[in-house]
Amino acid sequence: MDIYGNSEIWFVTGSQHLYGEEVLRKVKEDSEVITGYLDEAREIPVKVVFKPVLTSADAITGLCSQANNEDKCIGLITWMHTFSPAKMWINGLKSLTKPILHFHTQFNRDIPWKDIDMDFMNLNQSAHGGREFGFAGSRLRLERKVVTGHWKDKQCIEEIAIWSRAAVALADTKKLRIARFGDNMRDVAVTEGDKVSAQVQMNYSVHGYGVGDLVKECNDISDKDIENLISEYGDLYRVEDRNILKSDFLKDAARIEIGLRNFLERGGFKAFTTTFEDLHGLPQLPGLAVQRLMAEGYGFGAEGDWKTSALIRSMKVMASGLDGGTSFMEDYTYHLEPGKNAVLGAHMLEICPSIGGEKPKLEIHPLSIGGKEDPARLVFKAGPGNGINASIIDLGNRFRMLLNPVRVIECPDMPKLPVASVLWEPAPDLKTAATAWIIAGGAHHTGFSTALDKRYLHDFGSMLGIEIVDIDRDIILEEFKNQLRWNDLFFHLKGGMA
Ligand code: MN
Repeated sequence: MDIYGNSEIWFVTGSQHLYGEEVLRKVKEDSEVITGYLDEAREIPVKVVFKPVLTSADAITGLCSQANNEDKCIGLITWMHTFSPAKMWINGLKSLTKPILHFHTQFNRDIPWKDIDMDFMNLNQSAHGGREFGFAGSRLRLERKVVTGHWKDKQCIEEIAIWSRAAVALADTKKLRIARFGDNMRDVAVTEGDKVSAQVQMNYSVHGYGVGDLVKECNDISDKDIENLISEYGDLYRVEDRNILKSDFLKDAARIEIGLRNFLERGGFKAFTTTFEDLHGLPQLPGLAVQRLMAEGYGFGAEGDWKTSALIRSMKVMASGLDGGTSFMEDYTYHLEPGKNAVLGAHMLEICPSIGGEKPKLEIHPLSIGGKEDPARLVFKAGPGNGINASIIDLGNRFRMLLNPVRVIECPDMPKLPVASVLWEPAPDLKTAATAWIIAGGAHHTGFSTALDKRYLHDFGSMLGIEIVDIDRDIILEEFKNQLRWNDLFFHLKGGMA
């Protein structure tokens, strides 16, 4: 996925005319140094571009307008080297549609005790200039990220890197189209939601298709293309039974993969859903195809779950190039042995191999429900490490994102369950985490990632303006319930007539 290639963050420095040309020249020089440092920081995956120092309301409004209209610009980093009276910023910030990170830093790391004089004080005013700018943001109820610390500080760079990944994911939502084959599965509630509200709040659009449209695409595939893809499977995966490479079931799986990929590419879709209930004309449930497309960066939700599909696409954008993987996931079954409580996460087939700790095995087995032919799938287990589960639900008046960090642990062999799977211990423990998750209405489907942690999803959720609730080590259930009650009130008031 070459997602970050063209994206830019604009580094914007605020000042004013009061100090004279000499100070402004120095402000510009220092800003260029910081911009260059951020641009070269390996952790920040996008370009950081210096913009002229802003000293007037017109210049600020003009810059914000340019940022709004420039596709490549995915956000602004603002810095107040000197004092920059914030009334100048109000009109610009009111019009800004791009995310903003207020970098509360100062050029010098240490106070030069021996040399410090009034000239130094006139130039290096971040400590109070940043607060004035902060007031304007708070007065405008502006959603923004504040990062405090010296600009060479590793933690600051990491926070900016995380925010910039979230900003790219936000930009991606604005052009994200989701193909939805069939409707919702049976009477499942949590996978439903208001697609118009989702577009208003979360930008992406969901487009419905009959599964026949996909079948038609699959029927147009040449035998040669199918043969080539199967030989790729043979090279990429462990195939214990080489006979399956000649099986008609695998040919059908390859045909579905090519058809699905063609359909998605032609329509400009970066995410999709299928439903097990509606496979008319498809010989098998798309399993292998879904796994491989997810590994390429497509979002996916089973059973018509477009919210999870969109979330996974955004998580994949944020995680692009990081160690670890991201997948569609489902809480499948529990291990409730005292002291060793854990969740087995899996799905019928559709788990992304990017989270695998081993080379996947290619296998074909019956599904035991659905009455279709035996589907091909990749079988593997996720390796131990840290991960996170995220879920977005529609509460009628708002979208809520739930976050729960987990520790992936070694999964015993399950010779009779040939699906991709993950075994994890949720934080703080299964009992508390599952109780809180259920109280907050979290879905059984999640976006699961071993590449991201909650900081990425917080930045992303904040940019979308949705509710975020953490289920983590320090959770106290009674306080958590109160938080949900207060949030109900806040979002009700905030929603107003919308
Ligand atoms: Mn499911």
